[in-house]
Amino acid sequence: MAGLNLSAPAIVVLGPGSLATARRVQACYPHASIHGLQGRVDDVDQSFESFGEHLRALYRQGTPILALCAAGIVIRSLAGVLGEKEAEPPVLALAEDGSAVVPLLGGLSGVNRMARELAAHLQVQAAITTSGELRFGTCLLNPPAGYVLADLEQGKRFVSDLLAGERLRIEGQAPWLDAAQLPYSEQGQRTLHVGWQARPSSRDELSIHSRCVLVAIGADTVDLTGQVRNALHLAGVAEPALACLLAADAQMADPALHAAADALQVPLRFAAGADGLERWLASTLPEATRQRIGALQVVVAPAPLSPERIGTRRGRLSVVGLGPGAAQLMVPAVKQALAVAQDVLGYETYVRMAGPFRDDQRLHCTDNREELQRAGHAFELAAQGRSVVVVSSGDPGVFAMAAAVLEALHASNEPSWHRVELEILPGVSASLATAAWAGAPLGHDFCVMSLSDNLKPWSIIETRLDLAARADLVLAFYNPISKSRPHQLGRALEVVRRHRACETPVVLGRDVGRPGATLKVVSLGQLTPEMVDMRTMVLVGSSTTCTFPRADGSQWVYTPRWYPAPPE
Ligand code: SAH
Repeated sequence: MAGLNLSAPAIVVLGPGSLATARRVQACYPHASIHGLQGRVDDVDQSFESFGEHLRALYRQGTPILALCAAGIVIRSLAGVLGEKEAEPPVLALAEDGSAVVPLLGGLSGVNRMARELAAHLQVQAAITTSGELRFGTCLLNPPAGYVLADLEQGKRFVSDLLAGERLRIEGQAPWLDAAQLPYSEQGQRTLHVGWQARPSSRDELSIHSRCVLVAIGADTVDLTGQVRNALHLAGVAEPALACLLAADAQMADPALHAAADALQVPLRFAAGADGLERWLASTLPEATRQRIGALQVVVAPAPLSPERIGTRRGRLSVVGLGPGAAQLMVPAVKQALAVAQDVLGYETYVRMAGPFRDDQRLHCTDNREELQRAGHAFELAAQGRSVVVVSSGDPGVFAMAAAVLEALHASNEPSWHRVELEILPGVSASLATAAWAGAPLGHDFCVMSLSDNLKPWSIIETRLDLAARADLVLAFYNPISKSRPHQLGRALEVVRRHRACETPVVLGRDVGRPGATLKVVSLGQLTPEMVDMRTMVLVGSSTTCTFPRADGSQWVYTPRWYPAPPE
């Protein structure tokens, strides 16, 4: 069974009365975030509207849950989703005043260990109810990092045999059991095997694999998963004992390597330079035994390996769009990238909008104009194996960082930059967020333009405006005006008015999705540059865009899906 990769816990509170305890719990788990019921508790890291839905979402994501409320509420909320997961996160209920710690779910992902840690921190007793753990002082089925249980069913049977009075012997090294009160006996009828060797499953044995094996990859990566499995088999290694795959850094972007690591569910690590693999193995794991099988080497170390300490990993650069501002309008993939980011780069306002961040996350705030430099810095960090996020507002591909990042990469001859895992994650662009608020002004063909002549000649802007207005496209203007460009919007409107009637509806969305957001609908005839600033999105309707009153007194704006046929 692959070990659960646990994320930072969520401390969930329902009212202000629990906040003080929540902060004490956070002191025990500094990476944990506090989640509070919207409208009831302020000053939390994350707000939610429905307790039940939020709890289920956290459970599904595998986030450890520390709920400061009655155990019954947690049980009822999660009841419907319990069957969905094979490996579940730890779920604990804590009394609001911190006087009780009750582990509920996640026996195999360390819930009892967490309960003990928390109880010690809060100076109370943990309500441990797991018989094996109570009797033996350890959960045999939940070995520490570096070890993995071979078979859960075999494990459960083994523990109930011990509870029924059987005695056990240990073969191999199990240093974490030194302090446990297990019923040892040299004549024991049950055996705990700890090691990397593959062994047939037996009724009277429990197998725990020590993850002390790595496979060094050769140049041939055709059917790599098959090659690795075959090599492990020939070397007599149990597959769960594999701690990681190691390859030369020149192979970093080879999809076959990543597919094999995914299929085998192990991390992929890299050694630098042409003879890097050999050098690395000889200098870092001199006591390991090595066996060549085909193009691979099976390397068995004397103790479990920590993949994080082996070579480097492939760095990742995510260029993300935050959406217009509101957390609900940020896509989940972007939230995920921000949660795992080690470095976050961007214009200060957007970096702040992307937070809150943990203390271990490095923020690199720069001026908005230094785009290429920022892109280069991001590649340098990612090339060191770090997880880097570059933030833009809205969508990163719309007048924002994605194109600058690609331009920097295109111009670079640095192989380590090209090997980085680069991904662009979309966001809700300001034009789309503004349009949705107003109704559906972009319901038919439309044209998106930036009115900034910082990076392109004004004559191009005028030509495009003229042609787009003539083509009767709805127009979406980004960067409509700024202090350094006060006159351009007036000129742009003159061009548009040559082809559009005065009654044409215009939507002005300002700070959409942010505090103090406003939406105005005016006619093209009424529109003046003073109504617009650099935080405004301007949508100019086409000949078919129309408006009608909403029940709340404001107006709906939409452009119908159809278009009148041209006269015969
Ligand atoms: N990448 C961004 C656009 C950056 S250009 C996106 O996809 O939304 C900056 C311009 O976008 C601003 O001058 C303004 O015209 C518009 N804009 C960005 N965020 C906005 C918001 N929240 N409300 C209204 N306009 C916004």
